[in-house]
Amino acid sequence: MAMKIQEDCIACGACLPECPTESITDGDIYVIDPATCVECVGHYDAPRCKDVCPVDCIVKA
Ligand code: SF4
Ligand code: SF4
Repeated sequence: MAMKIQEDCIACGACLPECPTESITDGDIYVIDPATCVECVGHYDAPRCKDVCPVDCIVKA
């Protein structure tokens, strides 16, 4: 149960501070750690990173 960032990530940085479990790492393309991503269950009604991503490049892993 985790979300995944696809190759069309533009490294804008919007998702990183929004993650309640600090599962996102920056880089040329940002990466979500599947070991700690909980798809925001217990924090938000929907995956927060996906909601804030301007290019909609985050999908279910
Ligand atoms: S779905 Fe939620 S917990 Fe998972 S990486 Fe995105 S913001 Fe973090
Ligand atoms: S919000 Fe989307 S485009 Fe921006 S860094 Fe995160 S995954 Fe990449």
